[in-house]
Amino acid sequence: MPPPVYYTNCNSAAAPDGIPVPLFLPNFDLQHLNTLGVPVKAQFYVSVTSEEELLEALRYARNEKLPLFILGGGSNIVLCDDLPGLVVHIRLQGKTLVAEDNEFVWLRVAAGENWHELVEYCLDFHYWGLENLSLIPGSVGAAPIQNIGAYGVELKDVFEELTAIDIRSGLPVTFTRDSCEFGYRDSIFKGRLRDQYLITAVTFKLHKQPHLVLSYPALREALAAHADDAITPRQVSQVICEIRRNKLPDPAQIPNVGSFFKNPVIPATQYESLRANHPQLVAYPVDDQQVKLAAAWLIDNAGWRGQVCGPVAVHGQQALVLTNPGHAKGHEVVALAEKIQLSVFEKYGVALEPEPRFYP
Ligand code: NAP
Repeated sequence: MPPPVYYTNCNSAAAPDGIPVPLFLPNFDLQHLNTLGVPVKAQFYVSVTSEEELLEALRYARNEKLPLFILGGGSNIVLCDDLPGLVVHIRLQGKTLVAEDNEFVWLRVAAGENWHELVEYCLDFHYWGLENLSLIPGSVGAAPIQNIGAYGVELKDVFEELTAIDIRSGLPVTFTRDSCEFGYRDSIFKGRLRDQYLITAVTFKLHKQPHLVLSYPALREALAAHADDAITPRQVSQVICEIRRNKLPDPAQIPNVGSFFKNPVIPATQYESLRANHPQLVAYPVDDQQVKLAAAWLIDNAGWRGQVCGPVAVHGQQALVLTNPGHAKGHEVVALAEKIQLSVFEKYGVALEPEPRFYP
């Protein structure tokens, strides 16, 4: 490989055709850019704040034959080791009201915007629908990848479309809700199209009148003193922020990636025989045929809550969260996750599937 050429934003005169091009940094420490606090290095790193810079970064990676890794908020990835190739950190910013009618507004948001700041912005402007998704860490561009969800609302419920760039061709593509193939904490970008598209913006369809979803017991309990028609979306957001702050560790204090496992969905028949042996099992019907088990209950009752394994641990307030206070490499977190999966499988015959994605 020929030695790479570096340009800087402030030295754009050096760039071909006077195009400002981003700064490519070699051997870049990613510890502060992943919420699990894993101290790994990127072979090259670039932060992009415009579509021009983004396209330049893609061209550079293509010319130099460098594998690409797209980084958003770094809150749903486990970096097992140093990353070969070019890490492209998406920092595109901007929110545009693209349309409205009597009932809805359509808001287009750049991928690099912070998720919770978007929720706050929508509350300020009375665009309703994101309140149950308050305080989820990460960026707007990463949200559709796992169809983030909380307290009975999923991203797909407020999603209109997204724009992405095909990494191989550099061409823009629009994905509708159907073409994203959203599932439970899942989308086409985690499956068939994994690592093939780079999301640049998401358009949300938000209500002008509040449509509150208050079905989760924790939410109902916290708002029990209020009549349903007196509850505001901002109150819902505040209550969820409080619950989350009490239960989930702040990644800035204790490195973590939120829920480490999805709630397993099992056949109703399997659930019935499990419940015969474990009457306290926490579960919710998905449909006539399937039941969703609370993964946290399984992990807790397999004895893992609060366990410390060297530099990594299972959070004391929420067994679904693995923490990395010792800033271990990602493979140590994965080793703990595998032990938990094995013990839950041995005790309940249920397979736990991780929610974050593992790299490289
Ligand atoms: P919780 O309220 O203690 O409930 C335990 C589990 O039961 C949750 O995982 C939830 O499933 C399920 N559940 C509770 N009430 C339900 C209902 N009425 N209908 C269907 N399912 C119900 O859970 P928690 O751990 O404190 O989390 C609260 C919410 O925040 C959950 O929705 C959780 O998924 C969400 N959260 C999301 C992320 C993320 O997107 N990365 C991270 C942390 C927490 P679901 O998980 O399917 O909702």
